[in-house]
Amino acid sequence: MFKITPQLYEKIKHYAKFPQTGVSLRQMVMFGQKPSQGTLLKAGQFIHEELPIRLAHRVKELEELPNNLSQMPSIVKVKNWYAQSFQELIEMPPPELSSSVKNQLKQSTAGGNANHLPHNQPNLAMLEQNGGLAVKPNVPVGHRYYFKDVGEFDWPPEVLRYNEQFVKRIEAIKRRHDPVVTTVAQGIVEYKKFRQSALIDTDVQSFLDRFYMSRIGIRMLIGQHSALFRGPPRKDYVGVICTKTNIAEIAQEAIENARFICEDYYGLFKAPEVHLHCPEVVEFMYVPSHLSHMLFELLKNSLRAVVETYGDEYEGEFPPVKIIVAQGKEDITIKVSDEGGGIPRSGIPLVWTYMYTTAEVQALEPEFNKSDFKAPMAGFGYGLPISRLYARYFGGDLKLISMEGYGTDVYLHLNRLSNSDEPLM
Ligand code: ADP
Ligand code: MG
Repeated sequence: MFKITPQLYEKIKHYAKFPQTGVSLRQMVMFGQKPSQGTLLKAGQFIHEELPIRLAHRVKELEELPNNLSQMPSIVKVKNWYAQSFQELIEMPPPELSSSVKNQLKQSTAGGNANHLPHNQPNLAMLEQNGGLAVKPNVPVGHRYYFKDVGEFDWPPEVLRYNEQFVKRIEAIKRRHDPVVTTVAQGIVEYKKFRQSALIDTDVQSFLDRFYMSRIGIRMLIGQHSALFRGPPRKDYVGVICTKTNIAEIAQEAIENARFICEDYYGLFKAPEVHLHCPEVVEFMYVPSHLSHMLFELLKNSLRAVVETYGDEYEGEFPPVKIIVAQGKEDITIKVSDEGGGIPRSGIPLVWTYMYTTAEVQALEPEFNKSDFKAPMAGFGYGLPISRLYARYFGGDLKLISMEGYGTDVYLHLNRLSNSDEPLM
């Protein structure tokens, strides 16, 4: 098993002093659909700098968690994964670049302070100045470099080799971290037992928000880079981002999946209908997998609320769940509306806390469905808080309004301008 040595922890603390650099959705698509090997190299350089910083922030935070939370076996396990990934990245050597390659990279690198960049400029930070790779964050904070596509050039084999090796390494890291959500959840269970308390305090809640948000960001950077390297899955994709994400299509798929799970759980014909109102074709730039995840979670909640309000013995027709899509200049808003009896006002803050559920609690099975933490129907209490993180990650939000005795409306706001930086803490 991997252990954190004192020397490694010193390095981690050093990297954790550097601020994390957020990237916006718009910046992530600036590489274009078919990036050259040089562009991949530069994007790789950014990630090679940025990931150790982000991982170091997390290790330090896990180490410093209050009230013995940091000592819980599952939390220690997760901390070791982060430290191991950190070490693997900082130990990976940069490619030896000839001066002509450095020159080519430099030409496409414009200097400037990231804070003064117009929003349509990619500001992927370069912590090192001359087109080479720096594996130590050694440039004063605020001094950032951004770049355009590097363009045509006869890239030498060492660049190609580095690109491939780097992608393989970060893909392996992503796999290592697949079971993080369930393992941290397990750590919270251990903590509750240890404290003999059923509730988690607000510190823990905000730690989990920060931690899972950071995880979404890290996985987005890795997923995007590896998808860029491996080529777009389909037309209109840049990495994992679809420039024409079609809301109606994704919603339709989420409806089918959620109703399938609902019938599987409550029995045949026990899934309320879902009506989709999407007056025009709404397409925008987004990560389809994030949108599917959120809609699927919201729909499962609504379907469950309706079935449980009417009872699964109910022979009549359930009132349908409605999805309404509206398109504004700033936001696309998706409302999921049900007649499932609502939530008492005093219970509203609870629905955003991790592990709060009114369903029968499900056993944690870290090996099962480990990457996305998709609960079968309900029972983990992660659906709403994680969906809100996904919404906020690209500058959107998730709000819930309930009419106790009638039903619930959930508003999913998605930022169309796609220029907000990742929220990193
Ligand atoms: P889970 O579905 O695993 O319980 P969630 O985070 O998705 O976890 O939801 C937490 C709780 O919020 C649910 O257990 C339920 O009590 C309440 N809730 C969520 N959505 C609705 C809804 N549409 N109507 C009524 N209650 C809801
Ligand atoms: Mg749920």
